[in-house]
Amino acid sequence: MSLLKLVNVSKFYHNKKNVSTGFNKVNLSLDQGEFVVITGESGSGKSTLLNVISGLDSYEEGELYINGEETSHYTEKDYEDYRRKYIGNIFQNFNLVNSYTVYQNIELVLLLNGEKKRDIRKKILEVIDLVKLTKFKNTKASKLSGGQKQRVAIARALVKNTPIIVADEPTGNIDIASANEITKLLYEISKNKLVVVVTHNYEQFAEYATRQIVMHDGRIMVDKKLKETEEVIDEPPKYKNIRFFNKLLIAFRNVFNIKIKFFLLVLVYFILTISVFSNYTSLSMSTYNNEMFKMSYIFSDYSEKRIIINKKDKSAFTDEDVEKISKIKNVREVVKDDILIDSNTYLENPEIKVWDSTRINDIGNVKKVKYGHLPKEGEDDYNVAILKTYGKASKTDAEKYLNNTFKLTNSNGEEIATELRIIGILENTDETSVDYTDTLYVSNDVLDRARTETNLFYSDIIVTLNDKVYSSEDYSLTFNLKSNNNVPYGQAFVSEDINLYYKDFNCLKKNINIKVKNNYYENGFDLYISDTFKKNTISKKLGYDKERYDEMAYTIFINPDNYKELFNQNTYQMSVYVKDERKIDTVTTELEKLDINVYKMMDMTSNIFGEILGFAVLFGKIRFVVSIIVLFFICYFIIKLILKSRNTYFSTIRTLGGNKKVLNDLLNIELLVDINIAYIIFTTILILIRHKIILKINYLYQLSTFFELKDYIIIYIVLIVMSVLIANRYSNKLFTNSVMSNYRENE
Ligand code: ADP
Ligand code: MG
Repeated sequence: MSLLKLVNVSKFYHNKKNVSTGFNKVNLSLDQGEFVVITGESGSGKSTLLNVISGLDSYEEGELYINGEETSHYTEKDYEDYRRKYIGNIFQNFNLVNSYTVYQNIELVLLLNGEKKRDIRKKILEVIDLVKLTKFKNTKASKLSGGQKQRVAIARALVKNTPIIVADEPTGNIDIASANEITKLLYEISKNKLVVVVTHNYEQFAEYATRQIVMHDGRIMVDKKLKETEEVIDEPPKYKNIRFFNKLLIAFRNVFNIKIKFFLLVLVYFILTISVFSNYTSLSMSTYNNEMFKMSYIFSDYSEKRIIINKKDKSAFTDEDVEKISKIKNVREVVKDDILIDSNTYLENPEIKVWDSTRINDIGNVKKVKYGHLPKEGEDDYNVAILKTYGKASKTDAEKYLNNTFKLTNSNGEEIATELRIIGILENTDETSVDYTDTLYVSNDVLDRARTETNLFYSDIIVTLNDKVYSSEDYSLTFNLKSNNNVPYGQAFVSEDINLYYKDFNCLKKNINIKVKNNYYENGFDLYISDTFKKNTISKKLGYDKERYDEMAYTIFINPDNYKELFNQNTYQMSVYVKDERKIDTVTTELEKLDINVYKMMDMTSNIFGEILGFAVLFGKIRFVVSIIVLFFICYFIIKLILKSRNTYFSTIRTLGGNKKVLNDLLNIELLVDINIAYIIFTTILILIRHKIILKINYLYQLSTFFELKDYIIIYIVLIVMSVLIANRYSNKLFTNSVMSNYRENE
């Protein structure tokens, strides 16, 4: 039984348009111990025949028998096995791994064959010595001459120790002196093996040939036995699978051996990492911003740092309470006029063209300013204010505001201060703030007025006239209240229209009961109607233009002190701001210990609009998945380009007997190393930015404060999965082609 037997085997190349013949109806029997030399003019089918014999290319017709076994049903896996056990290839263009050293090129075969790295050192050095390359053992293959390269290839075939050695024009690319050496080496390693050599130069091999074959136009014309050979029958060597550790070793070697490729891959993965991070962020941020956007209808400061509190027993906060709360760890600020945080006021000065929306806070909360000064002793009795800008405060801003006076009104158009002088400017230094409104820190008088006006806005006014109750709550007539200096304490001025509500059409000198009701308190008293006004007299009696009479018809004017008694009540609801929102729970626990109800802004955001948000979140998630898929393909195509040069490497591994799984694993490990490096670089940069160790990039700083460990892990998993998919897709594509067509694609 022959080692190899071809019966009527034909090989055709199918191109896009036509079919060409590699060789046609070849019959051949080859045995171990033979040294077969094939010659023939160029294009006669020699290489094609060798490739089919070595299982590097498929055939179309006939049958190839290996040790009597048919191969027409062979799968890629069977061919892998066959190449590994039977075939040692030597190519005209060497097919070494150029970025490996001589030693590594030879070592590669043995590692692929499952040997242990430390067991093979001696053997490799011996073989290198045999091919006279000891001086070059640590030289990269790319730096060797043609003759030297072919000697490495021979050494590689020698250590592979297969029963068949196939050499396609092994001396074609080297000078004559080296060629003779190569011929001799080839002969020496081939005792008892089947050697098939294709050559242009028969003379070089004449001395060793036991059989000569001449091909012409895809057919065998001459097949001549020159020497009798003994028949040798050897079992092919048995191989183990490559060890996991050696896979790691080779993969790591591949990561770093070509610097530019390493750099490009890490760069691509770095950009991928950034893209996934920012996609993920826009997913979470869009959810977050959506919530925030809707929250802004209700709260103008919806910062996650804010907690709204009231007491469980509904009683007012005492100074002592405020003191205690201020001292809780991680509390930055306690704002007593919680209600003022969410009501806007407007700062105007037409001459210097300022119209600015602000919120109001107590000037006592300001500890330092950037421009101007803090209120001096006694100065805070007057109408002074400090402006905190929501972003950076520039010098020009400062000049615009500083020491100028402004009119301050609330959102009802009610005037809170006529001439408010800004004496200081500071800026919001909290980069994570979602607070986009300036804050005006004002002195007590202004604060008082703002508080009463705002309380009025949030309260229900219940008026009892002639024993009848009118309240906005039951949609009966709604009265408005205004304070006016012309009204004496305990009295009220109303419009003459009110006469209609009395039987005798006269309200003058009657009592009117006024009550204010809101979430926290109910408060009221009787007032004596001492005067009425009409269109002609409103100006004289109250100082309003007569054009405004109509809007004042249901307004009850009372003395400012009465007004204060009604509205400027104790503090029932406050806001606490924390320094670090991630540690907000330590604050809330302390607050709860003080019998305080806690409403965290961040919880309200997710509760109130849960359903609407559900939809937005779903949409965001779909968008996230779509962009990840797009990123995957972009990345895949770029990596494919970068790895294009590697197809040769993979083909070489395959000729050496590496199978699909090995290649897949090598590629996976290599890309995983790259992506881990990219990920580590990126997260390190983020962390350094977060802790302000390196330069501040606002966008990245926000990213960094936004992320928790959980987010880092999710993104890491997404990246790893992407990398594995890329590697698998790449190697699957690679294995739909035969080894030779892969080589050909790269020529
Ligand atoms: P040799 O090695 O004897 O020079 P080859 O085996 O390379 O010849 O080629 C044999 C025939 O097959 C030639 O006619 C050649 O044009 C054809 N051939 C070889 N490779 C391909 C290919 N990849 N696609 C199409 N035709 C090919
Ligand atoms: Mg050829």
